[in-house]
Amino acid sequence: MDQHPETTAITAGRPEVAPDASLNPPVVLTSTFHSGGPIGYGRYGNQTWSALEDAIAALEGGSTLVFSSGMAAITAVFSTLPLGAPVVASNQGYSGVMTLLKSFHGSGRLEVRFVDLVDTQAVIDTMKGAAFLWLESPTNPCLDVADLATLIAEAKKMGIGVGVDNTFATPLVQNPLAMGADIVMHSVTKFLSGHSDVLMGSLSTNDPALLKRLSDARSFNGSIPGPFEAWLALRGVRTFPLRFNKAQESAKILVEKLTAHPKITRVRYPGFGAILSFEVDGTPEQTERVCESSTLIAHATSLGGVESLWERRRRWPIESASVPEQLIRLSVGCEHIDDIWADITAALASI
Ligand SMILES: *Cc1c(COP(=O)(O)O)cnc(C)c1O
Repeated sequence: MDQHPETTAITAGRPEVAPDASLNPPVVLTSTFHSGGPIGYGRYGNQTWSALEDAIAALEGGSTLVFSSGMAAITAVFSTLPLGAPVVASNQGYSGVMTLLKSFHGSGRLEVRFVDLVDTQAVIDTMKGAAFLWLESPTNPCLDVADLATLIAEAKKMGIGVGVDNTFATPLVQNPLAMGADIVMHSVTKFLSGHSDVLMGSLSTNDPALLKRLSDARSFNGSIPGPFEAWLALRGVRTFPLRFNKAQESAKILVEKLTAHPKITRVRYPGFGAILSFEVDGTPEQTERVCESSTLIAHATSLGGVESLWERRRRWPIESASVPEQLIRLSVGCEHIDDIWADITAALASI
């Protein structure tokens, strides 16, 4: 029987067992290596990165490369495409990716076709003649869900490369490589590391030639993570299933409670995961006041940590205008559910 991911997260990426071998991989702090080995220089590889890469690969499938951030990983993917390549991407998703793709489109680096990922037929129509399909599902922050299985299968029939941002769903919910995707990306910053203390990204693929191109992109763009950050992220991976399952359980309870709350007009939740978004019956200023009034939930951006965090997404000028002004994104952490709910009700009572 295959190991369960809860077990794999704990066992993967360990040094070989030998008398007095350390149980955990050490932090290898060096810029250079004695000659004769496969690494040579610290921009080409590092044993602490490899341990983390083995652990993520064991969860997602394929082989993995870690990068200095999620955005660095995404930039590496697009840097492998030829000048002017037609790319299909969501018209609504993580604001950093939207900003990057708009800038690539504006400069002619890529020809980006933005489409509503929920409209499967529209995506398929837009894919004709494209070189690459970039999927994010569920999307950040509106939690729209794309039909990944159908879109990946259609793209493969047309010979189009597919990358999937799996940050929100995580490998506990979906494995895009198993559905036929070429690349799976994570903002390791979020659930995989899980303690809001490290930025990192990853790319996983089953294709050795693509792995080589992505590895070269990392080496020569220089978008490498620090060894200590890799060690912290791997420490986080050990408890990732435990944290994710707990936060998901709380998120489901909060969705029910928020849906019944008179000051909430809409709750968005894809049915899984630990992120939910809801709209407040009030002005943007009142919505800000709710976020500022919490005493347990931190008023901060980012997500996927043990700490519950929330924010009004439109406070960021780069956030898409299609995101409602009154939308609050809540990343549910691992605190006791009663304490989280008490904090939310008190904050909503401030308006
Ligand atoms: C945070 C995030 C990113 C970017 O990752 P960084 O580690 O912040 O660079 C990309 N996609 C999604 C869905 C994210 O939430």
